Amino acid sequence: MEANQFKDFGKEMIDYVANYLENIRDRRVLPTVEPGYLRPLLPEQAPNKPDRWEDVLADVEKLIMPGVTHWHSPKFHAYFPTANSYPAIVADILSGAIACIGFSWIASPACTELEVVMLDWLGKMLDLPAEFLACSGGKGGGVIQGTASEATLVALLGAKARKIATVKGEHPEWTESHIIERLVAYTSSQSHSSVERAGLLGGVRMRSLPTDDKHRLTGSTLREAIQKDIEDGLIPFYAVGTLGTTSSCAFDKLEELGDVCNKYEVWLHVDAAYAGSAFICPEYRYLMKGVEKADSFNFNPHKWLLINFDCSTMWLKNPYWVVNAFNVDPLYLKHDQQGSAPDYRHWQIPLGRRFRSLKMWFVLRLYGIENLQMHIRKQIALAHHFETLVNEDKRFEITAEVLMGLVCFRLKGSNELNESLLKKINGRGVIHLVPSKIGDQYFLRLAICSRYTEKHDIQVSWNEIQAAAKEIVEDNNV
Ligand code: PLP
Repeated sequence: MEANQFKDFGKEMIDYVANYLENIRDRRVLPTVEPGYLRPLLPEQAPNKPDRWEDVLADVEKLIMPGVTHWHSPKFHAYFPTANSYPAIVADILSGAIACIGFSWIASPACTELEVVMLDWLGKMLDLPAEFLACSGGKGGGVIQGTASEATLVALLGAKARKIATVKGEHPEWTESHIIERLVAYTSSQSHSSVERAGLLGGVRMRSLPTDDKHRLTGSTLREAIQKDIEDGLIPFYAVGTLGTTSSCAFDKLEELGDVCNKYEVWLHVDAAYAGSAFICPEYRYLMKGVEKADSFNFNPHKWLLINFDCSTMWLKNPYWVVNAFNVDPLYLKHDQQGSAPDYRHWQIPLGRRFRSLKMWFVLRLYGIENLQMHIRKQIALAHHFETLVNEDKRFEITAEVLMGLVCFRLKGSNELNESLLKKINGRGVIHLVPSKIGDQYFLRLAICSRYTEKHDIQVSWNEIQAAAKEIVEDNNV
């Protein structure tokens, strides 16, 4: 493709993207296609001669859009949000143009240096303790991982390296495998599945501990588990606390977990994947009290801070253990300035990395902290508005305290009744929700996902839920 064609195609695509997003409310949120819908619509092989870009763009609307789930529709309430904004989209175009692979400082100095500064900017926006920030002049610093799952695994591997070194110092006669088979990590039954997976990938035991009546992991539960394991000859080394659980957006008792972890020299990692963005608002920081006791902290600006996927920010008080756990240093990756700036390849699992800090820089500058705070506050207010609507209808109940942009609710009655309700809601095709279950209780989750959501959209969603409930109640003769 020649530059002139690229300019025409690019301009047309920018128009297409803006029209798509500004009119997304009018599209059916969930596609109606069946599995395998696309293959018969595509040629059996790639074209020998180039197609016209105009035809490709036309096929996007004709072939691709019918199979797209519109995550940025105000009628999409499933999972947690994934971020989307114009400044981030534009930054990704630039990142695609520079197309560097910033695994070391010299591989593209701006790629590394902007990331270091952006992690400081964002850390300050959350009021993270200075020990986590590179600008403090201490050991700490931040990195952009692809996902929260990677951050949890990277922290686990760092914790594992730290504990092995400590135990070897105390028992030089013990072999590494003798130590590894005794290592034990902890999390709660409410943490994300990626935490259990980190245990599997890291080859260690991961205990899933029970939570209190508000679905929070407490210090006493963690302490008892650690003490029992020590009595049994095991070696506690890592714990993951969740701020904003996936099922119900519960917040573990971080301060208590911090005290226990510090006492037993257990690495505490904080997974605030969704809710972390809310900490840019001072009024929500009480929910991260105790963060100064953690060793690593992670959240996903790509969920709720208007920075498109992938952008999962992670801070470490002492990156030494992570950097050391992964350190291989072949000659072809060495450079003269090694040691004077981070070589981010040591902080992550893959070697390659995109210029992701560009989209942070664009979003933080082009929104400003105030507008980002406004975005968070508005979405939480919309969740409370929905909560009020639910509370006003005596057929329904709220099943978890609403603290962020997620509302957990159900029809009073059996799980089967609520399963039918969800099926009916999603079947009507206007809005999209997913369920969850804690203990024996099945419930529906309504997340505020789109930056376009307004109060009238919440009313549309609630009308849909009420209409589906009416049909269910009539069908069931309740
Ligand atoms: N942790 C929590 C609390 C989550 O809610 C999620 C996803 O929703 C994750 C981790 C996984 O996030 P990622 O897809 O970035 O790995």
